[in-house]
Amino acid sequence: MQCYQHNENVSVGLCKACQKAVCSVCATDTGRGLACSEPCSREVGVLNEIIDRSKQIYGIGSRSKLPPTGILFYLFFALVSLGVGLYPLTYGKPVEWFLVLMGSGFLVFGTMSYVRTRKLRLNC
Ligand SMILES: [Zn+2]
Ligand SMILES: [Zn+2]
Repeated sequence: MQCYQHNENVSVGLCKACQKAVCSVCATDTGRGLACSEPCSREVGVLNEIIDRSKQIYGIGSRSKLPPTGILFYLFFALVSLGVGLYPLTYGKPVEWFLVLMGSGFLVFGTMSYVRTRKLRLNC
């Protein structure tokens, strides 16, 4: 492939922003991809930032074994609601159905979102 600006030169790669072929004369190495021009170089910086942020947001490549915070939150409320709701059983009183129901709901939601994050391989 030829450079899109210098027809006589063989391209060394593609501009990461506009995907045009660039040669060693016009290519700028941004460190994480080639750019054909100053505006494209800025664009590559933006693209890289988007990639970095989504990696952080979605926990992509994260090696954390801990379940995502949202799920811990559900689990915590499920345990508290179920615990408080079922506690009267220990002294022979009827259970607090509302709390038991709420706790079960949290447990179901927590499990559902856990399954979803595992499926999408997210960690958030
Ligand atoms: Zn470009
Ligand atoms: Zn060129």
